[in-house]
Amino acid sequence: MGESLGADWARAWIIASAEVLADNRVALITLDREIGDGDHGENMDRGFQAALIRLDDLPDTATPGDVFKVVATTLISTVGGAAGPLYGTAFLKASLAVGAAERLDGPALVLALTAARDGIVLRGKAESGDKTMIDAWTPAVDAAAAAVEAGASPHDVLRAAADAAERGAEATEPLVARKGRASYLGERAIGHRDPGAQSSALLLRAAEQVAGAAS
Ligand SMILES: [Mg+2]
Repeated sequence: MGESLGADWARAWIIASAEVLADNRVALITLDREIGDGDHGENMDRGFQAALIRLDDLPDTATPGDVFKVVATTLISTVGGAAGPLYGTAFLKASLAVGAAERLDGPALVLALTAARDGIVLRGKAESGDKTMIDAWTPAVDAAAAAVEAGASPHDVLRAAADAAERGAEATEPLVARKGRASYLGERAIGHRDPGAQSSALLLRAAEQVAGAAS
């Protein structure tokens, strides 16, 4: 079981994500108030609470890809602002990348993370260094791929991704934003962490923590 993660992990990840987003609702609202419109914490909390309810309707035979797809459609239909379509696309692309696989090994996790990141890039049209969630996702994808190359377990692959995402989120602080509302602030955005990068790091840490609990 330690060499792959199944739907039990995927469900546990979404449950843990909903929990951590509820715990960080005010912190994310505060970050988004500083350089955006302040809706990020509320949107993410509401979206993942809605996803939790829909997860309950999935049959016991559901695959990790089925879990990701339910999250995707829920976020796309219930979350306003930029975050819903971006995270919804990420989960949808991850779902397509893993297909009908019942269990995900390290390489499959990298495929899913890469597809998610590519979906966000396509949808948001942001590049690395624009002070967006991409600045958490791209280091996470790179670190996960390097971990797989080094023969890491799925849990260690996700740990590498989460560690890199946290560093990436922190590294958005000195940046000037080139996308979204924060870009209107010019140099006034300097010193503030991008809320989307922060929520991305929280989600990837949750993925790692439940993988550790499962193995
Ligand atoms: Mg916002």
